[in-house]
Amino acid sequence: MYKIPLFDLNFDEAEERAVLDVIRSKWISTGPKTAEFEEKFAEMLNVKHAVALANCTVALHLALKLVDVKENDEVICPSLTFVATINAIRYMNAVPVFADVSSLEDLTMSPADIESKITPKTKAIVVMHYGGFACDMVAIMALAKKHNLKVIEDACHAPLSEYKGQKLGTIGDVGCFSFFSNKNISTGEGGMLVTNSEEYYKRTKLLRSHGMTSMSYERAKGHSTEYDVVELGFNYRMDDIRSAIGLVQLQKIEDDLKEREIIRRAYIKELSGIESIIIPFRENREFSSNYVFPIVLKDSDYIKRNKIRELLAEEGIQTSVHYPAVHKFSIYQDFYTELPKTDYAADNMITLPMYSKLTVDDVKFIATVIKGICK
Ligand SMILES: *Cc1c(COP(=O)(O)O)cnc(C)c1O
Repeated sequence: MYKIPLFDLNFDEAEERAVLDVIRSKWISTGPKTAEFEEKFAEMLNVKHAVALANCTVALHLALKLVDVKENDEVICPSLTFVATINAIRYMNAVPVFADVSSLEDLTMSPADIESKITPKTKAIVVMHYGGFACDMVAIMALAKKHNLKVIEDACHAPLSEYKGQKLGTIGDVGCFSFFSNKNISTGEGGMLVTNSEEYYKRTKLLRSHGMTSMSYERAKGHSTEYDVVELGFNYRMDDIRSAIGLVQLQKIEDDLKEREIIRRAYIKELSGIESIIIPFRENREFSSNYVFPIVLKDSDYIKRNKIRELLAEEGIQTSVHYPAVHKFSIYQDFYTELPKTDYAADNMITLPMYSKLTVDDVKFIATVIKGICK
């Protein structure tokens, strides 16, 4: 066990009670709690529609289906992301075209590199708002408009994060969120697809439940006694047990994010004096969910980085790497392309503990250990 873990769940008796209530109601699959979770989530994001799903990986799969990505279409995507972002593109037999990050200070996709990779076969761009910090959506949406491309936002890191007055996930055509246990909003497994398109919304509801025109909750309520199957759908539903946890988590998220912002500022203050590290997104002024706190080592390599991670672990500090570059995984060797900045970031970054219950004293301790190592 680490003295300071990478992440700690923001759960208490409220989540326990919510689960018990659902179990006692005897309706444990998709039903009223899920509908309420969707409604509240859409309201918080100021978006027309939200559909709860089993996880974000399936949300990304459906998003790519909604925008009509077809076999051999090219989809421009980041490599510095969780592999699920890219796996979803492969579910469609489409071609992932990796774009580099902007810089070591801004680990989101470079609009210039995106533009250089647009071809007549390009159908969509999947962006990922790294750590809850926005991609350059003005530039990316302009490129999409100019080249008639769809934009899918992998907003797994970014619930309630903002960009020029809009919530991330609501700027492109479709936004996808995850409620995996270590995300800002945790339900164990879970996801949400958001969109302002009525057409996409209706199709998502069909596709998440076998392409059936009604769900069992509606039939149990007597609203509908029969159904048709109009499209090859999936079982991508979220259940009411998880949705009830999600509803409690939504009540906590604003305070949780305020605490994370305090932690982020403390890290920046304590780490600023260390010459040998870069603090990405240091100058960011937009409201962020602060999903992770990455640092990038200067003049380093992955052996040095791994050694530093070991030394931190010896002091009881858990760290991680968000992420190993996807374009270097064996399964993606056919799609390999040179991404020098992504490579450097993936080999030389360390993600430090970040969660709302972390204290400023913890941050001071972590910073002191890092200073000692970097000397
Ligand atoms: C967590 C995560 C996913 C996958 O979400 P699941 O809900 O676990 O399927 C996809 N993309 C990013 C960027 C993530 O962080």
